[in-house]
Amino acid sequence: MPFTLPELSYASNALEPAVDAATMDIHRGKHHKAYVDNLNKALEGQAALAHLSIEDLCAQVSTLPEAIKGAVRNNGGGHFNHSMFWQLMCPAGQGGAPSAQLTAAINGAFTSLDQFKAQLADAGMKRFGSGWAWLIVKANGSLGVTSTPNQDNPLMHGIADVLGTPILGVDVWEHAYYLHYQNRRADYLAAWWSIVNWHEVNRRFTAATTSTR
Ligand code: MN
Repeated sequence: MPFTLPELSYASNALEPAVDAATMDIHRGKHHKAYVDNLNKALEGQAALAHLSIEDLCAQVSTLPEAIKGAVRNNGGGHFNHSMFWQLMCPAGQGGAPSAQLTAAINGAFTSLDQFKAQLADAGMKRFGSGWAWLIVKANGSLGVTSTPNQDNPLMHGIADVLGTPILGVDVWEHAYYLHYQNRRADYLAAWWSIVNWHEVNRRFTAATTSTR
């Protein structure tokens, strides 16, 4: 079953002004579509891998045959990361807030929501070139902030510096912000909080902490 480009649950202009419609259309319709197409191409004829979810492909990527390892790392990572990213955003004012349980975990790990936001922004700003900044649930159930280059993600054993289940992630590739913000990554990261879908982050936090206990 080939992987497919997911539909958005909102219009491509629904995240303005934080993220503009042209960026959304190119980001999903061109960049994400290329990851999906190239992932499917890499997996052609790989019957033994056909049953694997995108999460499993990411987790096992370093064990895959050499001929497809690089393509699955880049394009499978790109597909997982972007599929999650679209769900993590929603129109401003509709995203709710961190749940009581997530708030307690954030306060425990980072002392406050503002301190967490500062750490995530710092991780995104320090990522040289292209990549992602993440909030993850680690194997012991605690929260952490980490960053990965390119389309790597914290699911990738043998690749990511810090492993965990991502429950929030922000794309800091220039293609995510350059049309509207040009070089101002910090402004993009600051505005991005206005469109975070905390309902989705809460759902992912509950799923991740339930499965790791
Ligand atoms: Mn991207």
